[in-house]
Amino acid sequence: MIDFLKKKKVLKKTWTIKKRVLESIMEFSKHYYPREFAAFLAGASFVIDDIYIIPATKNYSRAAFIKPNLAPMTLKVIGSVHSHPSGNGSPSYADVSFFRGKQINIIFYYPYDLSCYKVYNKKGEAITIDVV
Ligand code: ZN
Repeated sequence: MIDFLKKKKVLKKTWTIKKRVLESIMEFSKHYYPREFAAFLAGASFVIDDIYIIPATKNYSRAAFIKPNLAPMTLKVIGSVHSHPSGNGSPSYADVSFFRGKQINIIFYYPYDLSCYKVYNKKGEAITIDVV
């Protein structure tokens, strides 16, 4: 039983995000305020090391729309990030359906300091992430 618990702990991986990426998200969120900002997260499994802002993104105050077909083919999209100018870090129903098929999704919320984010898996369940 103890061996089983140990094994389970080892297998449980935690996502990490580069601090400079989180800082970029913060800067973009502030820049677009009071509109929403949205981008794709790029990287490898369990590591977020870049964001990609879709050029044709239309930012409205209530919702940000991104066109996935405009992302470069070489981009390794692993998830999404968008801001909530409302200050609420919870996903909307539309957010949860958008999260499907994306391994990791970040909501960065007002007032946009480095602790103003929540992270969700593809089911819309809150998960933790390490900043490295
Ligand atoms: Zn949202």
